[in-house]
Amino acid sequence: MDALLPQRCCICGREQGGAPVCPECAADLPHVRSGRCSVCAQPLPGGGVCGQCLKRPPAFDASQAVFDYRFPLDGLVQGLKYHQRFSLAGFFAEEMVAAMFPREVDLILPMPLHRSRLAERGFNQAVEIARPLARLAGVPLALDGALRLRATPKLEGLSRQERRATLRGAFACGRDLAGARVAVVDDVMTSGATLDELARCLKRSGASRVENLVVARTPPPG
Ligand SMILES: [Zn+2]
Ligand SMILES: [Zn+2]
Repeated sequence: MDALLPQRCCICGREQGGAPVCPECAADLPHVRSGRCSVCAQPLPGGGVCGQCLKRPPAFDASQAVFDYRFPLDGLVQGLKYHQRFSLAGFFAEEMVAAMFPREVDLILPMPLHRSRLAERGFNQAVEIARPLARLAGVPLALDGALRLRATPKLEGLSRQERRATLRGAFACGRDLAGARVAVVDDVMTSGATLDELARCLKRSGASRVENLVVARTPPPG
């Protein structure tokens, strides 16, 4: 559909050439500023590693987000996921390359979607973002690196232990990742529990380092 309609900015609605977000609106988006925990990407004045990540280190080594998940960026993420605005995937990929690359990674691996969800939605938004990202960054894309074995229910409102229990065994990694530095790509990082479980699976398959590269980070609870 994107190709058939005159390209309007997804935020202000003005007709303009090319990009799905006009330069003015793009500049106003809630870009992540410095002062973030390098592991979980939550705000941490001065940077470094936050107390939570020191106390209970997740299986992943680092996380980076381009945006905070709030207005109007949340609408763009939903525009891709629920309204098939595929040109937004390319926009997100360009923003990610500008903010996160070059970096030392061997593989880009999109967060896998369970086949029931894939059948429902028709596409995996993480794959749509990872594809142009891999091309622009010049890093190989691993679409077969991991498999989602179970569709997991909403994790909202669950305790940390309950989230862990719900996600246990949710992924299978069929590929030998011995020594590989893997960048997992997803649209939004919320509790980080799903990314943690995937990272655990990737490390079991030999990955030496797992980083999460996400479009947006939700603000800390409360
Ligand atoms: Zn605009
Ligand atoms: Zn942290």
